[in-house]
This record gives sequence, C-alpha cells and structure tokens, in this order.
Amino acid sequence: MKVGVVGSGLGGLLSGVSLAKKGHEVTIFEKLGYFGGRFTNISYEGFELSTGALHMIPHGGNGPLAKMLRALGIKVEIVPSNPSGTYRINGRDYLHNEVPNLFSLKEKLQITKILAELRLGSGGDESYRAWLKKRVKNPLLFAIADSFCGWSLSLDSSGVPSREFIAITKNINKLGAAGIPKGGCKAVTGGLVKELERLGGEILYKTPVESITVDGGRVNGLSTKKTSYDFDVIISNIDPKQTIKLCGEENFSDSYVKSMANMKEANGIKISVACDKPMIGHTGVLLTPQTKRISGANEVTNADPTLAPKGMHLLMTHQKLLDGDVKKEAELGKEDLYELFPDFDRHCEILMVQTYKHGWPVNRVASGKHISPESPIKGLYYVGDAIKPEGWMETEGVAKGVEMMLNRFGR
Ligand SMILES: Cc1cc2nc3c(=O)[nH]c(=O)nc-3n(C[C@H](O)[C@H](O)[C@H](O)COP(=O)(O)OP(=O)(O)OC[C@H]3O[C@@H](n4cnc5c(N)ncnc54)[C@H](O)[C@@H]3O)c2cc1C
Repeated sequence: MKVGVVGSGLGGLLSGVSLAKKGHEVTIFEKLGYFGGRFTNISYEGFELSTGALHMIPHGGNGPLAKMLRALGIKVEIVPSNPSGTYRINGRDYLHNEVPNLFSLKEKLQITKILAELRLGSGGDESYRAWLKKRVKNPLLFAIADSFCGWSLSLDSSGVPSREFIAITKNINKLGAAGIPKGGCKAVTGGLVKELERLGGEILYKTPVESITVDGGRVNGLSTKKTSYDFDVIISNIDPKQTIKLCGEENFSDSYVKSMANMKEANGIKISVACDKPMIGHTGVLLTPQTKRISGANEVTNADPTLAPKGMHLLMTHQKLLDGDVKKEAELGKEDLYELFPDFDRHCEILMVQTYKHGWPVNRVASGKHISPESPIKGLYYVGDAIKPEGWMETEGVAKGVEMMLNRFGR
C-alpha cells in the first residue's frame, strides 16, 4: 500500500519504518527542516541539547520503545539509570527506599500500605492527590507526589487520575526506571531515519501538509502547497485536532470534534545548564519536592560524556507549566537552581530556557486521557504522544500507541 505519514516525530518514524519493513511504500512529510520533532538533538556550543525530551527513555532498555527499536533492527545503547533517582529533601539527597525514614512510625506504616496499593490496586477517576489525601496528611508526601508527576507527566498530582498513576507505577515496578540513549534523542530518531531510507522510504522536509482528502468516509490522499499525492493510508503524527482541520470538520461527527477539542496539552519549561563539574553525580533523576517550580533535574553526561564538551556536564531541569506568566515561571525555575545548588554561580551557566506549549507541548494530550489510534475515517490513523494507552508515559506511550495502530492497520 502507499502510505503517507504527516510528521517525522518519533511516532511518525516508528510507524514509517514498521510499515516500510512490511513492504509498504512510505513517504513522510515534515513541516520543519529536520526530523525527530520533539525527540532530537540541538547542537549548541558543543553541548547536545534537545528539541524537547530530556534524553531519557522512561523504562530504559526494558520498555516498549526499546523493544520496538530492537525489533526494527535499530541499534541504540541505552544506559540504565543508577540509582533510578534521588530526592533532594532539606538539602540532602535520599534514595527511594530511604525516604520513608524521614517520617514518623505511623506515617511509615501508611507509606507501606500505599506502596502495596500502588502495586496491587487499580485506582479510579479521582485524582492521585485526592486518592493520596484519603490515606496521608503530611504535606511532604504530597510534594513528593507532585515532583514525580511534574517531572514525568508535566502535571501536578491533582491533574492525574489515580487510575493512570497506579498503572504507571505498576509499569515502573515491572520494567524499571529510565535509561539514557547514548548519543541522546537523535541516536533513536536518526537510527530510524537511516533504516527508513535503507528500506526505500523517504522524508520530504520543509513540506507541510495543508490538507487531507476524504472521499466517501475514506482518505485518498493529501496536498502540500505545490503538489497533491494519492495514498491508500495516512498516518497522522500531529495533533488529532489539527488532523481534523486538515481533513475538514464536516467529515467528523460534532460529538467527535467536541471530544477532541476537550483534550488538553501538558505544558512545561526546560532549562539546560553547562557545568564544569558534576552537580548531581549520577545517571538517574534528582527529584526536587521542595523547590518553587522545578520538579526535577538530570545530568545525562554521567551516562554519556559526549553530550557535552570534554570535562563538562549537561544538567537539564524540568518544570510543569500550568497557568501563569511564562517569563515569571521561568524566573522562578532559575531561582530554584540557585537554591538547589549553592555553588551554581561558580560552576554553572544557563545555556537555554525552552518553553513547551501551544502546539509544541510536553505531551499533546496530558496523561490520563486516551484516544484511539483509529480515526472515524477509514484509512486515517493517529500516532504520537496524543495516543498513549493507559499506564504508558511519554515515549513509551508513543511506542505503545504505534503498536496499537499497527494491530489495526488495514483492518
Ligand atoms: C521538555 C520536554 C521533556 C521531555 N522529556 C522526555 C523524556 O525525557 N523522555 C521521554 O520519553 N519523553 C520526553 N518528552 C516527551 C517526548 O519528547 C514526546 O512525547 C515525543 O517526542 C513526541 O513524539 P511525537 O511522535 O508525538 O511527535 P512530535 O515530536 O510531536 O513530532 C511531530 C512532527 O510533525 C511535524 N508537523 C506538524 N505539523 C505538520 C504538518 N502540517 N505537516 C508536516 N509535518 C508537520 C512537526 O514539525 C514535528 O516534527 C519530553 C517532552 C518535552 C517537551
């Protein structure tokens, strides 16, 4: 079949390579001059910054993304985080299993019970914060929950359904924590592009898709500014709302258009910092429950020193962006850096502050909301981080969504 893919983000590339391997003729249309969307590198003053992701794969070498890459023959070395993370509390760093020691005996028992429920329970529609509030009272525990949700989902715990949070925790317990691909995000997306081209697929850069043609409830092609193309199937790696616009809203029911319009992005701010010494000193995440804005930070050069000039380190922070003045939020994030690292001025320099919102978010659809990869139009599928099945965060969700799309493809 002739397959057109709108967007060369991670979801578009995983889909393109998977389908090219099955013998389909794949053309990817990319609006920008580079591949990878929010999952590739930006080379800046010798540092490998990124267009989006913090160079981490949520379940490292054990998750669905790594599994799919292996199945497609893409060789990427993923360094497991060790330890998986630490928590900066009252100026000291604690391992996950040391944190309960900060609480009273009664609270320790409550924490043990919560951890058991996270392993065996199922949660519901109530938020994780509301769920937690029924079980504990200590504000530090809510702050810890918020720092985890802020780092990994760009939400606070009141924005995540407990069902989703528990499903995510179960996957972490089963598959382990994050890993860092050597070479950063671009090692993943660059590997996929090479394989796509080897299989005869192509990417047309600086070629935004302007419309998708629908005839009798089925897609049959798409148009760019200059050319119209015929396709049997179209995979959209962009926002489903945007896809609906490209097709024309009249091709969808009002209720479907409305339900998609209600899907909200998760937004955030990333600060990339050059350091002349290790500030975190390990390959995991530093979660920061007591800061004003920053949820956590990583230092990927502990796993792959080539992501910075020789002898230097790359530290990246992440903070969720709910409402409010973006500039002010970024300033509060910077203030956090000075509080977290008292010797920040002597050893660090901020390289870049990036804001992710309005069409270039952290997640196109916030975790906890689920969209089927199959659209109501025959031959039109969605992939990308708007299509994350329950329990799968970030790029693991993208890979799982692609897997679901492939299972339904051509049905
Ligand atoms: C600050 C930040 C930190 C993150 N950290 C991590 C992390 O550490 N680990 C992790 O797993 N995930 C992380 N993520 C999430 C991860 O980056 C995304 O989930 C993933 O990259 C999304 O991929 P996608 O398939 O949705 O494609 P996208 O990246 O959304 O790519 C879509 C592509 O479509 C193109 N496009 C748009 N419109 C058109 C059009 N009309 N025609 C043609 N092309 C078009 C765009 O230019 C883009 O290249 C982070 C994200 C951010 C922003």
